[in-house]
Amino acid sequence: MALLELKNVTKYYNGTTPALAEVSFTVREGEFVSVIGPSGAGKSTLLRCINRMIELSRGEISFDGVIVSKLRKRDLRKLRTKIGMIFQHYNLVDRLTVIENVLHGRLGYKSTLAGALGRYSREEKNQAYRIIKILGLTDQVYKRCDQLSGGQKQRVGIARALVQNPKMILCDEPIASLDPNAAKIIMDHLRLVSTELGITVLVNMHQVDVALKYSDRIIGVNKGKVVFDGLPEDLTAEQISDIYGSESGELIIDLGEKNAS
Ligand code: ADP
Repeated sequence: MALLELKNVTKYYNGTTPALAEVSFTVREGEFVSVIGPSGAGKSTLLRCINRMIELSRGEISFDGVIVSKLRKRDLRKLRTKIGMIFQHYNLVDRLTVIENVLHGRLGYKSTLAGALGRYSREEKNQAYRIIKILGLTDQVYKRCDQLSGGQKQRVGIARALVQNPKMILCDEPIASLDPNAAKIIMDHLRLVSTELGITVLVNMHQVDVALKYSDRIIGVNKGKVVFDGLPEDLTAEQISDIYGSESGELIIDLGEKNAS
């Protein structure tokens, strides 16, 4: 069943060149989809249109049976509780502890006052501790986030998204600031979120090899257009070249080394 559907999504930031042009695709519930493409291709714009962090210029996005662009205040808030978001630079409050940051994922369910006073139920706290444990952060639970490594910060980001009880997680370059070991841990967790919890994962990245390894499906974007949409095993060197243009030579060499090892 389609959870997310984009129809002819077009976004102009200025009058001339669109950042996204007539983008259409659907994502099934529980699917793990990577959006790949060079810098400036429109990957981040695409993700941000889905939860209305930015507005479309044309086209339509539906999520879980509702048309996203038509939602007003309360319903938009409800939509955002169903969509967790993970960022390259984590977007944590550094001076707060891990548990406090994770509980922030519950704010969408609360009145502003209850949120501001940090009122969370026992059940919410227990759920947060459970998720922190799954992400291997039990020893860090009362540490301030500015004392964590990048990989640990990103795991806090995943935990914060999960306490929302989301149907989908959008990940905007989640591993771009991490070393390969930390990146692997994050990707393994995201894959688990999809496989074990049935949560749909849509992740932006520029690393083809990582996308090939983890995804059920890959969407390749170049200059705001979808130029590939298919299974990882169907992505050919020629298609990689369509997606990455002049950057592709280097990427194909990377791929060759990976396949050879
Ligand atoms: P990617 O995530 O693939 O690197 P982006 O979605 O960030 O690509 O950017 C797509 C295009 O839109 C780029 O040409 C970028 O310069 C432009 N763009 C992104 N954000 C803005 C903005 N806030 N204002 C104007 N142009 C923007």
